[in-house]
Amino acid sequence: MPASCPDGPCPAKAAAAGGASRIPVAIVGAGLTGMSAAFHLARAGIPCRVFEREPQPGGHVVTVEERGYRFDRTGHLLHMPGGPERDLALSWIGPSWREIERRSAIWSHGVYTRYPFQANLFGLPPAVAYECLQGFVDAHVAPPQAPARNFEEFCLAHFGRGITERFMVPYNTRLWGVGPTEMTADWCARFVPVPTLGDVLAGAVGFANRELGYNARFIYPERGIGQLSSGLAAALGSVECSRPLRRIDSAARELAFDGERVRFEVLVSTIPLPRLVELWDGASAPVRRAAARLRATHLYYLDVALRTPCGRPYHWIYVPEPRYPFHRVGCYSHFSAQMAPPGTAGLYVELSDRQEPDLASLLPAVADGLCEMGLIARREAILFARARRLDPAYVVFDHACRGAIDSIRPFLAAQRILSCGRYGGWDYSSMADALASGREAAAQAAALLGGAQDQDGDAT
Ligand SMILES: Cc1cc2nc3c(=O)[nH]c(=O)nc-3n(C[C@H](O)[C@H](O)[C@H](O)COP(=O)(O)OP(=O)(O)OC[C@H]3O[C@@H](n4cnc5c(N)ncnc54)[C@H](O)[C@@H]3O)c2cc1C
Repeated sequence: MPASCPDGPCPAKAAAAGGASRIPVAIVGAGLTGMSAAFHLARAGIPCRVFEREPQPGGHVVTVEERGYRFDRTGHLLHMPGGPERDLALSWIGPSWREIERRSAIWSHGVYTRYPFQANLFGLPPAVAYECLQGFVDAHVAPPQAPARNFEEFCLAHFGRGITERFMVPYNTRLWGVGPTEMTADWCARFVPVPTLGDVLAGAVGFANRELGYNARFIYPERGIGQLSSGLAAALGSVECSRPLRRIDSAARELAFDGERVRFEVLVSTIPLPRLVELWDGASAPVRRAAARLRATHLYYLDVALRTPCGRPYHWIYVPEPRYPFHRVGCYSHFSAQMAPPGTAGLYVELSDRQEPDLASLLPAVADGLCEMGLIARREAILFARARRLDPAYVVFDHACRGAIDSIRPFLAAQRILSCGRYGGWDYSSMADALASGREAAAQAAALLGGAQDQDGDAT
């Protein structure tokens, strides 16, 4: 989308005059958070500009197309309860979407079991199911423990040893790219369902009758999740793409882009928090040290086009065992038939290794794994595969994380810099959270501008 000068100041004219253009609110990053902030600011009548590094808006929420196959950046499924936020999101998607009941499973010990593992032991080899069940009961009747110091202790306390060792530790180590004792349990309350003893007993004998977890239903647009971000971008009218932020001059309150300086009253930043601190010339040494302690992991995954349909009906499958090079596989064509040509299917395969994949040597092992799981019948079912990188993918909630964030935030707030979204807020959060975070940032920006106008008489 090209740069444009809607009602506000014209960057081209300002640049030609050698000065900085001015805007009440500058937004950096046109993922869902940044675009949602822009949408709500526009609704409030507050001029803003949105700057995006990439040639297209959307951040992680984009769909690419190749030879009739559509691929998102791995599974991006929208979980939104009813209400005005959902109505807005659906208005951006347009009429072509469906609400779908989750069909997900775990592949381990050569069998499929229902998700979540901890509540559905039925179908596992009896010795494994027994070990997991016994461990859960032991943990359930154990006397109260001290609060868990890390994610592994959290799992042992809530699920017992069998479930922890058979699923929680191996799967999460592969997902996050770090060991479970390195991570606190801060992130998991919402994302890791803790079943009751009744749920576990019912699930162990195949009698589970309720779906657990936040993602039992999801919304999916017919032509991929990119419909959400492209619809939102269209509603905005103006997103300035291919505009990477180079520097923040805190004395002048200016953003430096190639060929333009932009003066702002309030900055809404959705780029990763450590990068924001790097670009901000006013960051003190303690703030820089705190930012350097923040860790995130990237992810490699494969877009896989099949010549055939997918051999199992699941939307996505968790694969905890380290003998496979991947830990999660999903089938786009089960989300929507329009994601692949008729009679074929498209998959995403999330790779556990953080090294850049050598596709030629990796693909046979991936294909063999998919064959074992019954997703394809033979290696030749793969028409083409592309290796992709998501960076950052996961914020690491290690023991330094909370303290580091707490020591950065007050300095940003004092500068009227709102750092928000999944990576700006340094969080493990969803698309719905990103939309809400953008809305909240817009409200905060409006409040700050009210204050600025009171003081200066002119917010712009
Ligand atoms: C593997 C994976 C699976 C996921 N699955 C789901 C799911 O099923 N359901 C769900 O709800 N959520 C899911 N999410 C989460 C979802 O992707 C995020 O919550 C959401 O996309 C975050 O949006 P954001 O705008 O905060 O960040 P981003 O999408 O990262 O947007 C930030 C933007 O800033 C831009 N930027 C960075 N640096 C600069 C710079 N210097 N100058 C200008 N622009 C810059 C980036 O290019 C990007 O466009 C998943 C995430 C991952 C990693």
